[in-house]
Formats: sequence, structure tokens, C-alpha cells
Amino acid sequence: MDNNYLKDLPKVKGELLFNYSLQNLTRFKTGGVAEVFFSPKDKKDLLDFLKHAPKDMNIYTLGFGSNILIRDGLLNGIVIRLQSSAFNYINLLSNDDYTISCGAFASNIAISRFAMEHNIKGLEFLFGIPGSIGGAILTNAGCFKREIKDILVEIEVVDKITGEVSVLSCDECKLSYRESDISSRLIITSVILRGEQGDSKIIQQTMDNILKEKDAAQPTYTKTAGSTFKNPPNASAWKLIRDAGCQGLRLGGAIVSTKHANFIINDNNATSADIEDLAEKVRFLVYEKFGIMLEYEIKIIGARKVENS
Ligand SMILES: Cc1cc2nc3c(=O)[nH]c(=O)nc-3n(C[C@H](O)[C@H](O)[C@H](O)COP(=O)(O)OP(=O)(O)OC[C@H]3O[C@@H](n4cnc5c(N)ncnc54)[C@H](O)[C@@H]3O)c2cc1C
Repeated sequence: MDNNYLKDLPKVKGELLFNYSLQNLTRFKTGGVAEVFFSPKDKKDLLDFLKHAPKDMNIYTLGFGSNILIRDGLLNGIVIRLQSSAFNYINLLSNDDYTISCGAFASNIAISRFAMEHNIKGLEFLFGIPGSIGGAILTNAGCFKREIKDILVEIEVVDKITGEVSVLSCDECKLSYRESDISSRLIITSVILRGEQGDSKIIQQTMDNILKEKDAAQPTYTKTAGSTFKNPPNASAWKLIRDAGCQGLRLGGAIVSTKHANFIINDNNATSADIEDLAEKVRFLVYEKFGIMLEYEIKIIGARKVENS
């Protein structure tokens, strides 16, 4: 795709940056440069931009980058990140004590803390899921037998092509294991979640336990995007990877975690190509041994870097 559209971009109130490195915006700390990066000042800024932007450009949404691998080459198009305060808020809905309204860029961890402080139970599992609530909804994130589907009331979305706003109920999102029917044309701008009456002390204990168990089993504080692959029906991805002998396997600066086999870590200046090639090797070895082709849980976007260009 040519990049003639760059000269036709509408004026914005937020930040519009060109050739912007995305490395520091992902948990893997790898990835290339976006042709354009846009952080809207508020919802109106986002809508005005989308309504008047050229219709032939690729538009990507980035949250906290904790479930994504961005390839090393130039990312054609525009990356929109809702990082301004207009999309990062958490409130109680005034007419209902157990219902929380938040911006799509609010962190899962902050939302679970907010719920605890307001004696709302049911959102404790979000404490174990780094990332924004927008990103969590897209893949129906979950852990410890709880998932977004259990707490979501509705989302507000904006169409990337038309700039039109609409509301989708939880049922309309059709959330299932690490999936949703939310179209890639949509950007989630805000979210309504509902819990139940609880006791902040007990809620805090549950959150502490979740974190303790996660830290014991997963390399939480490394450069990783969490589980690389989804669990196939009636099987655990990590067990298949372990039993295929992949734990500790290394490619360039990337390694299959020795603590949790479904996590790939950038432990020594890995490139995205190192991580993707290692993931492909794991898929091949698991397929060779068990005849099961693992499906990616992490999202992979962008183009590979072409050497000497
Ligand atoms: C250590 C670790 C542990 C993890 N544990 C778990 C776990 O237990 N369970 C689990 O489910 N996940 C887990 N994850 C994965 C990750 O934390 C979640 O998927 C997270 O909610 C992703 O949010 P994000 O903001 O980082 O999204 P990103 O990684 O930035 O983006 C992920 C996808 O969401 C899309 N997206 C982001 N924001 C929006 C938006 N506003 N509108 C539309 N699309 C959007 C992006 O385009 C992309 O396709 C873990 C990750 C790490 C690093």
C-alpha cells in the first residue's frame, strides 16, 4: 500500500506522531515503527479523526501491549492508543452500587482494586491479568475459572471507518474462550462491568491469593505476553509444550520459559522475529509429537523486517 494518505490526515487535538517506535509500548519490548501513532485527547478528537481520515489506511488499536507481538518491520498505517485520561477512568454508576463504568484504557489491576475498595466482589481475577480492560474484553480474558463474560454488562465502541458510536451488550459480544465476535473494525472506548456485594477484606485476600499463585507458576515480571497459545480442547498447551521437550528452547534472544512452558520470554535483546520463529518451532514440535496444531492466543501484527532495505 502506498502512503499517500499521510498528507491527508485530519488535524487533531491529541498527539499525532510519525515513524513512532512501538517497542516500549509492548511487554515483549520488541517491534518496529508505526508510520503514524495517534493518541486522541478525548472521544470527540477520536471521532473527528476517524470521520475525516482517509478510508484506505490500516488502523490498529494498541492497549498495554501485554498480549501482542508487533513484527520488526515498518507498520503500515496508524496505531491508535487511548492513553489519555479521557479513556482512563473508573467510576461507580450512581444508580447501582455494584456496577462500574470505566474507560477502555483503565488497567485491569486498577479496576479490581477499585472494586475491592467499594466492597464489590467478582472482579478479583482481573488482578492477575496485566493489561487494559479494552484488550481484556476483546479476548474474553480470564483466570482462576473466571472470565470477562461473567462481569461484562456492555461496551461502547467506535467504528474505525465511519467514526460512528454504538453500544454492544455482553450477549452481542459473543464472548467465548479467548475470543469474541467484536469486529476488528471497532475500537472499544468504554466499558460497564458488574459485580456483587462483597467484603473488602475477603476480596483483598482473594486478590492476594491469585497473585501469589500466578507468581508461583508463571514468569510474571519478565518481558512476555503471557500465554502464547490457547489451550486446545481437552488439553493444556503448557503440558503439550513441556512434553514435546520445548521448555528452555532458545532462538536468538528468545526462550521458552522454564517456569511455564506456554510463556515465551525476551530474555536477551530478542527481536520479534526471534520470538515468532521460536513460537513456530514450538508449534512444529508439538504437532510432530502429538498431531495437534496449537492456535495463537497472542495477537501478531505488522510486517517482518527486510534485511538490507
Ligand atoms: C504476565 C502475563 C500474564 C497474563 N495472564 C493472563 C491471564 O491469566 N489470562 C488472560 O486472559 N490473559 C493474560 N495475559 C494476557 C493479557 O494480559 C490480556 O490479554 C490483556 O487484557 C490484554 O490487554 P492489553 O491492553 O495489554 O492489550 P494489547 O496487548 O495492547 O492488545 C491485545 C489485543 O486487543 C486489542 N485491543 C486493545 N485495546 C483495544 C480497544 N480499546 N479496542 C479494541 N481492541 C483493543 C488490540 O488491537 C490487540 O488485538 C497475560 C499477560 C501477561 C504479560
